[in-house]
Amino acid sequence: MCAQGRPDETEHGARFLEGEVSDAYLQKSNVQRGYSVVVWRGRHVAEPTELSPDEASRYWLEVLEAGRRIERAFEPVKLNYDLLGNSLPHLHTHVIPRYARDPKPGWPFPFPDDDGRADERQFRRDLEALRG
Ligand SMILES: [Zn+2]
Repeated sequence: MCAQGRPDETEHGARFLEGEVSDAYLQKSNVQRGYSVVVWRGRHVAEPTELSPDEASRYWLEVLEAGRRIERAFEPVKLNYDLLGNSLPHLHTHVIPRYARDPKPGWPFPFPDDDGRADERQFRRDLEALRG
């Protein structure tokens, strides 16, 4: 993630928010409509505890702005903010809308093993809605 710079689009997602310290990408995988990832930009950081108070404040405000856009675009019942990074230890936050018909509301989103893709036309429409 450090080496990729700040691309508008990758094989995994397309950016809808370019912040001061982060980029938010709508994901192309078919995990959940509106599923997005906010990536910390700048120096390499693996844990949020490595951020200064000012950096942490900026990062979280931008994550929340991504969340607000997802709320406006998709009207989920709830948003989940997951900080994992076990397989990719560069600070990023999964922002995952939860909808009323949720198969397992008490669980973190069950990421399927199959790497299905979101419908391309739907993806582009959703991206435009998030870019506002
Ligand atoms: Zn890094």
